[in-house]
This record gives sequence, structure tokens and C-alpha cells, in this order.
Amino acid sequence: LQGVVAVDGPSGTGKSTTARGLAMRLGARYLDTGAMYRAATLAVMRSGVPLDATVTDADGHDDAVAVALGADLGMSTDPAEPRVRLGGEDVGAEIRGADVTRNVSAISALTEVRRHLVDEQRRIIAAAHDDGSGIVVEGRDIGTVVAPDADLKIYLVASDTVRAGRRSAEDTSAGRATDATATGADLVRRDRLDSSRAASPLRAADDAVEVDTSTLDIDGVLDRLEELAAD
Ligand code: C5P
Repeated sequence: LQGVVAVDGPSGTGKSTTARGLAMRLGARYLDTGAMYRAATLAVMRSGVPLDATVTDADGHDDAVAVALGADLGMSTDPAEPRVRLGGEDVGAEIRGADVTRNVSAISALTEVRRHLVDEQRRIIAAAHDDGSGIVVEGRDIGTVVAPDADLKIYLVASDTVRAGRRSAEDTSAGRATDATATGADLVRRDRLDSSRAASPLRAADDAVEVDTSTLDIDGVLDRLEELAAD
């Protein structure tokens, strides 16, 4: 693969496993844009800017934007070892914890933050292209905003029950405490915030292929995507 594959969809549809697995199969690079929003959120949390103020008052908003834009993010695009660094520190585990997850939708709704991270994402995609590599890019707005000319656009969906179950299983395997009801409620809350925000709301691109992962295992999903990528 030499072009761009966009993999979008709500949480718990298997996006990360799928996008990363597809990149491995295709010998392509891999970019997890959710990790960038999460790392920017962690930067704001560590800075001490109150997260509530981000949405409720102008100074809080400006402070949060300034921290997010100044955050030194380092994304490695090797699908065998995708790392996320903040100021050189590997924050891959911390950004997937409950605290960041609770706050990420507020930070990712900030227009200035999105503009900045979208620029960064396009730069990473262009660098892969210059190297002669393809790249599988995973997120919420890749097919609509970041890479509207992507060679293939996938929109993953799955039933609510399956999505909540997958998120709990991920938490368990990462050694985090789980509570299926809370996980389900958090997914619904984030979907609502992500789909209703003014800036680049979550939606499928008109030319995306929708793939329902509810009843497919990971190899089944990857076989289907590999077929689509070969067309
Ligand atoms: O995919 P993941 O669950 O890691 O994404 C975390 C959050 O980052 C999402 O809930 C959404 O608010 C935001 N996000 C986004 N645009 C993207 C990727 C993620 O707004 N392209």
C-alpha cells in the first residue's frame, strides 16, 4: 500500500486493533489520532488548568488551548510498536486511563486544538508519503477532514453491547479496574459529545465503506479490509 487508508468510527468498534492490524498486513505505517487528542488532554491536565474552565470561561479556554498547542507530542508510526510521547516521556498507558478518557472529549471539541492536531496529522501522512510508505490513519474525522482524498475510507460500527464489552475487556487486559455499566455509560456520553460538537463532529464520509464488526472476529474484519484495500 502506498496511499492512505482512513479508519473512522465510534469507540469500542475495534478501531485501534483493526487499523494497526491492517497496517501490519499491508506493510504500511500506522497513526492513532485519538492518542494525539489524549496526549494533548494529559498535557492540559498536568498543567493544572482546570478542565471545567476550558468550556465555561474565556481565560480557561485560552489557557487550555495554549497548553495543548505547546505540548511536545511524539508519535511513532511503526504498527509493531506505536508509541506516544509527551515531552519525551512514553505516555501510552497513562493516556488510556479513566482520567484522560473522561476529559478528552472536552479538549477535542476545541477548534484551535483540532486545527493544530489536524495540521500535525497531515504532516505525518505527508512524511509517510515522501518515504514511499502507505499509512493507515485511525480516528473520527480522517475520511471527512484530515484526509478527504484517502484511497480507502472505512467506517466501523458495532452494537452498543458489543462496544461496551470490548472496552471492558481492553481495560481488564491493561490491568485497569472495570465496571461494565460505567464503561457503557462513558461510551454513550463520549459518542454524544463527539457527534454533537460544532468542530468536525463524528460522522461517516459519504464515500466510506461501513463495516459492522459486531459479529466478526479480528481476522474476519482484517480479511474484509484487506480485500477492500486490494480493489
Ligand atoms: O479513539 P479514542 O477513543 O482514543 O479517541 C479519544 C477521543 O479523542 C474521542 O472520544 C474524541 O473525542 C477524540 N478524537 C477526535 N478526533 C479524532 C480522534 C479522536 O475528536 N480524529
